[in-house]
Amino acid sequence: MKPLLIILALLGCASVSAISQFHSVNAYGQQAVYPSPMHEALFRMMEECTGEQRDFEGIRWFVADSLIETDGGRVWGIWTPERRIVLDGSLWFLPGLVAHEVMHDLYDGPIPQEVERRCTPQISGTTMLRILGQIESDP
Ligand SMILES: [Zn+2]
Repeated sequence: MKPLLIILALLGCASVSAISQFHSVNAYGQQAVYPSPMHEALFRMMEECTGEQRDFEGIRWFVADSLIETDGGRVWGIWTPERRIVLDGSLWFLPGLVAHEVMHDLYDGPIPQEVERRCTPQISGTTMLRILGQIESDP
């Protein structure tokens, strides 16, 4: 599983620490959305796993039409210190990605490596490869 977790860390998200290196972030067709019960359930799971607590209602959620572009490359999701989570619309229900962004929120920034390894729900290798294939074939 380790290579998959590394891929998710590299491509998965632009966090507060990464964002400071970017000069532009474009999330095309970005629109505000209400989180689903799955999103709240993942938030509660991550609260329990990390031992950190925050108000779920304080997060503002957005989806983007296409992969989110930054000058540091394309990412699937972004968390910002204003407690905005922007996800690629096609990955809105990807549990590992949602859990990852939620952990940024719980830690108000970077996620301790040990915590990410322990708390990120395992995603099947097949699912990950299919998603990566879509990204690679995307012009
Ligand atoms: Zn991240």
